[in-house]
Amino acid sequence: MQSIFYERARDVPHALQLGSQPGARYIGGGTNLLDLMKGDVEHPARLVDVTHAGLDRIEALPNGWLRIGAVARNSDTANHPLVRTRYPLLTQALLSGASPQLRNMATMAGNLLQRTRCPYFTDTAFDKCNKRMPGSGCGAREGWQRMHAILGASDACIAVNPSDMNVALAALDGVVAVAGQRGERRIPVTEFHRLPGNTPQFDTVLQPGELITGVELPPPQFNRYHYLKLRDRASYAFALVSAAVLLQMDGNTISHARVALGGVAHKPWRVPAAEALLTGVQLTDDVGRQVAAAMLAGASAYRDNQFKVELAQRAVVRALRNAAEGREAA
Ligand code: SF4
Repeated sequence: MQSIFYERARDVPHALQLGSQPGARYIGGGTNLLDLMKGDVEHPARLVDVTHAGLDRIEALPNGWLRIGAVARNSDTANHPLVRTRYPLLTQALLSGASPQLRNMATMAGNLLQRTRCPYFTDTAFDKCNKRMPGSGCGAREGWQRMHAILGASDACIAVNPSDMNVALAALDGVVAVAGQRGERRIPVTEFHRLPGNTPQFDTVLQPGELITGVELPPPQFNRYHYLKLRDRASYAFALVSAAVLLQMDGNTISHARVALGGVAHKPWRVPAAEALLTGVQLTDDVGRQVAAAMLAGASAYRDNQFKVELAQRAVVRALRNAAEGREAA
C-alpha cells in the first residue's frame, strides 16, 4: 500500500508552496485523479487540496471579461446566470458531459486537465502505452482505435482529449490563468493542450508546480451558438465527435464565426482558415461542407475509426445549420 500525504491549501501562495514538494499534485473534485489513482495509473505522493484556496468565484471583470475560478464546480458554472446569458455555448457543452453527480463535483481546472479515456492508458493490464509508460509503445495503434484521433496524432500516441468543456472554451477564445513560483501567466485555451508528438505523457504546457487559478472569457461577440455532441448513447458517454459553433449573424449574413471540433485530436481542434470561409456569407449546406472539408484537411484514420472523418464533417455541417437556425442542443 502506498502512503499519500493530504494537505489543504488556504490560499494560492500556500498552494504553490505545498505544490512545489516532490510528487505533489493539486486536487479539486478528484473525479478523474482519484479514479486513476485507484486504477494504479497515477501515483502522487502528496495531494494538495485547492478547494479552499479562494478559487471558486465566478465574476464579471471591469474590462468586460468573465472570470471563472479554477474550482468552480461544472454544474455551478453551467447554471450561473452570467454563463447562461453570455456564454450559453459553454452551458450546453458542460451539461452534455458526464452525469449530474459528476458535474456537481468536477471543477473547471480538473476538466481542463482530465486525461484521455484511451483504454490502454486507463487499464494497467495493457503493457503498451507511451502516455502511461513512456517508451513502452502504443497499444491502440495495434489494437482498438474506434474512439481515437483522426487529426494531429503521432506514431507515439493517437489518443484524444475527452472533454466537452474544452471544446467550447477553445471556440470562445478562453484564456487559462496560471500561477507559479515565477509569477502569473495567461495561456490561450487553444495553446494550453498540446499534440502528442514524441512526448504524449505531457497533455498540456503546464510546468511542474504551476497551478490553474481560473479561466477567463472575452466579452461575448456572437448571437448564435450550438454544441453538437455525437456519442454511442444519449448520456454519460464521451464524444465520438463534437462540434462547437459560434456565429455573429447580421440578418442572414455571417459577419464572423468560430468552429471547434472535439473527439478528433489530442486537443480541441480549430482551423482559422476554415472559420474565415464563413465571413460575409449566407450559410448553406454547400458552405458548411466547404468549412467541414477545411476543418478535416489532413485527417488520417485507422482501421476502426475511419467513420469519424465523415462523421466529423457531418457534425460541422449540422452544428452550423443548427446554430444559424437558433436550435438548442439536443
Ligand atoms: Fe497510450 Fe496514447 Fe497509445 Fe492510448 S493512444 S495506448 S494513450 S500512447
